[in-house]
Amino acid sequence: CGIVGYVGEPGSSERQYYALDVVLEGLRRLEYRGYDSAGVAVVADHRIGNRKKAGKVAALDAELEANPLPNAVLGIGHTRWATHGGPTDANAHPHVVDHGRLAVVHNGIIENFSELRSELGGKGYDFVSETDTEVAATLLADYYNNDADHDLSVAMRMTCQRLEGAFTLLAVHEEHEDRIVAARRNSPLVIGLGENENFLGSDVSGFIDYTKQAVEMGNDQMVTITAQDFEITDFEGNPAEGKPFEVKWDA
Ligand code: GLU
Repeated sequence: CGIVGYVGEPGSSERQYYALDVVLEGLRRLEYRGYDSAGVAVVADHRIGNRKKAGKVAALDAELEANPLPNAVLGIGHTRWATHGGPTDANAHPHVVDHGRLAVVHNGIIENFSELRSELGGKGYDFVSETDTEVAATLLADYYNNDADHDLSVAMRMTCQRLEGAFTLLAVHEEHEDRIVAARRNSPLVIGLGENENFLGSDVSGFIDYTKQAVEMGNDQMVTITAQDFEITDFEGNPAEGKPFEVKWDA
């Protein structure tokens, strides 16, 4: 339903190490869309930390107070509107797969998730949720682990080629603490540009408190963002141009 992503650079911004604050603020801004669960993942010291709860962002706040996450410059967050699997903690996003190494948030519906789930089940993968999202995350992990270069963008591209339906996907991996790889098909995703930091949102309210400089992406495109840069391609890997715009309204 609502998605936020943040990549900063250690030591270069006054918001350094506050990925969690930025992501939670974005999730609060996206609350107007309605949702049933909320969750976040951060990457610090090459480990993913993850908290997710059925209920409001306030429930997630309480969970984070009880079980804090480490300071980080990389984070993703999600507010869920359940389509596959009820609104439980286990079905909430991010979905962390591959022994805790990869975290994914997703808006939309993967239409062919049940055939993908059987295919991956046949390869020995287990699932802990009832969501279509965990299937997409597991497919991404499978491509990643089979890619000789462990290139998360290549794995995302191959995953998108297999997915049917509507999706905005964001992925972070413990081996790549400097980036978020994201993709969209028939579901919105906007890039926000900062100084030594960049943002992703399912809409501009996800990052409106931090920047008004945004970039629109086309359909069936993916992007890799770091603190300094972003690179858009289509699902075949051909470079694509984003459309820069300035957010005109005050939130
Ligand atoms: N289909 C996914 C789920 O049920 C994502 C729903 C959403 O867009 O929030 O978990």
